[in-house]
Amino acid sequence: MDRIELEKRVEELNHLLHQYAHAYYTLDQPLVSDAVYDQYFQELLAIEKDHPDLRFPDSPTVRVGGEVLEGFGKVTHENPMLSLANAFGEQDLRDFDRRVQEAIGSNVTYICELKIDGLAVSLRYENGRFVQGATRGDGTVGEDITENLKTIRTVPLRLQEPISLEVRGEAYMPKQSFVRLNEARDLAGEEPFANPRNAAAGSLRQLDPKIAARRNLAVFVYGIGGDGTEYGVDSHSDALDYAEKLGFYINKSRKRCQTIEEVIRYVEEWTAKRSALDYEIDGIVVKVDGFEDQEQLGFTARSPRWAIAYKFPAEEVTTTLTDVELSVGRTGVVTPTAILDPVLVDGTTVGRASLHNEDLILEKDIRIGDTVIIRKAGDIIPEVVAPIIEERTGDEVPFTMPDNCPECDSELVRLEEEVALRCVNPQCPAQMREAIIHFVSRNAMNIEGIGERVVEQLYRAELVYDVADLYTLEREQLIELERMGEKSVSNLLTAIEQSKENSLEKLLFGLGIRHVGVKAAEILAEEFGTLDALKTADVEKLITIHEIGDKVAESVTTYFANEDVLKVLEKLQNAGLNLKYKGLAQENLPSDGPFVDKTVVLTGKLYEMTRGEAKKRIEALGGKVTGSVSKNTDLVVAGEAAGSKLTRAEELEILVWDESQLLEALGESQ
Ligand code: NAD
Repeated sequence: MDRIELEKRVEELNHLLHQYAHAYYTLDQPLVSDAVYDQYFQELLAIEKDHPDLRFPDSPTVRVGGEVLEGFGKVTHENPMLSLANAFGEQDLRDFDRRVQEAIGSNVTYICELKIDGLAVSLRYENGRFVQGATRGDGTVGEDITENLKTIRTVPLRLQEPISLEVRGEAYMPKQSFVRLNEARDLAGEEPFANPRNAAAGSLRQLDPKIAARRNLAVFVYGIGGDGTEYGVDSHSDALDYAEKLGFYINKSRKRCQTIEEVIRYVEEWTAKRSALDYEIDGIVVKVDGFEDQEQLGFTARSPRWAIAYKFPAEEVTTTLTDVELSVGRTGVVTPTAILDPVLVDGTTVGRASLHNEDLILEKDIRIGDTVIIRKAGDIIPEVVAPIIEERTGDEVPFTMPDNCPECDSELVRLEEEVALRCVNPQCPAQMREAIIHFVSRNAMNIEGIGERVVEQLYRAELVYDVADLYTLEREQLIELERMGEKSVSNLLTAIEQSKENSLEKLLFGLGIRHVGVKAAEILAEEFGTLDALKTADVEKLITIHEIGDKVAESVTTYFANEDVLKVLEKLQNAGLNLKYKGLAQENLPSDGPFVDKTVVLTGKLYEMTRGEAKKRIEALGGKVTGSVSKNTDLVVAGEAAGSKLTRAEELEILVWDESQLLEALGESQ
């Protein structure tokens, strides 16, 4: 990477990590998995190490945690509550050991503890009474959550001795409680929590303590304030023993280790045993035990040098595969899905996993009733890794794909060079339902208020068989349907009516022509302008278009040669649908306004809309949006954390707007 690319990447990483940290710490709703976050974090750390001048003063690598929520009192921590440096493998642990020995000599004792996946809390006691509890917040200032913490049974309200001290620990939600809480939320129609950590954080950061009280939380204490002299202890392990005597809940699995080999064995042992615990752990914390040694090692801005957090790799768990369910997609492909006894994998409950196709099931020899290993592919989507053959009892049933469609019973076929089995009956109800669901989806006709359930109802009530039937729906018919009130019926009819005005590319994508995705639909619509022109185009004509290949060309001509398709299109036309491209057609562009003939560059984060949406709106008003700033640029719109493009615009003295100016211009010119 050259310098400019590097600067761009640093900016990008800072931006992403800030955004993810905000979602994770402040909103308790992570946008990405921890593994993804950690990967970006390590990348930024590595760049900053080689180029210290690229470390921003507010880089996530020097900051701790999130922001303090409004509504809670603020607590300034007497000693900052820091984060921990991470280790991702044996080598990182050995490097840590080397650094420690270089600083304090070879006579080191470590203490290993489970890294509980919850949120850090500080608990303050005066004369043996619990007086204040706080979150870590940004490390310096946290939220006062005393009342919520008082509801937790493992937080002692009175200690065995009347002493004053501060302890730190991890508040967490046991796995069982998490599963039950999410089931209840699901029933109540509320969004489930992504994982027990967020559930614990979300519960403790409620202004009403009754909510925390119901959530069955616990706190493990893992540290005690001060240097230990007041309590007559000189090591972390003694401090924990002392805290236990005072009445705190201390995790029993802690262990002192004399060498890094012993530490590594501890890590291996718990990597294997972690799924049997009734709370989530995401790693092992290794600390230098002696307080004097700790003092000598000291701190960085973000973490102590005497401790490191080893992070587990993506988790694999076992469960029972109870059944295989088949579903028929829009294109007739029949996909098998494994139904599993629900288990927690990397903090989320998994009850289903895709099996992709028959070949894969045969290759892995997966049978119904098998104990199987599950993990999240790419850390998000669950997959079945393999069955555990040794656990077979003989009652497992091999799975074979049926010869006939599970929906319409017509014979399934395997098209040449495909692994998938397909139902090729165009009247197959499953395919028809899926086709309608695709037609109304956001990138297609964007008709809100119709989901899987409503499509199913419409189909059963014999109101809708193809996409054109949607435009014949009447109020009286809809009101008859279960769970359809006056308001939803009228919203739905308005949405259907409005969709008639969509530009051609939305319809083309919605029709679900094979190989025609959003991009190809846009190109075809722009090129041909009307549906009639596209309908009559032949393969030769189609492949002259840049970006349209043989596959798309073949598929488009085959589609429009189908009699049934033509009938549906005629019905759509009679219903009054717009069949023209509206996007950039010259006649649709305004002749004046702030964007006409202007070249605009968008940079930084926008809050009211995505950059993609902004681009569309500017183009609809006659502007051109490009990716880089040059002397031909007329205007740069700089959102939050705009970087090199903004600098370049300033150098070239190009007009710069912020998001509010953009919104105003878009509003004024509508
Ligand atoms: P951390 O989780 O890596 O380690 C520090 C924390 O560990 C402490 O504050 C404490 O709360 C906890 N801990 C648990 N058991 C402990 C023990 N026995 N001793 C000491 N501490 C113990 O650091 P962090 O700053 O809290 O969080 C950073 C991590 O959070 C990242 O590595 C990432 O995995 C995750 N994260 C994820 C996202 C996302 O979008 N998914 C965003 C931000 C952070």
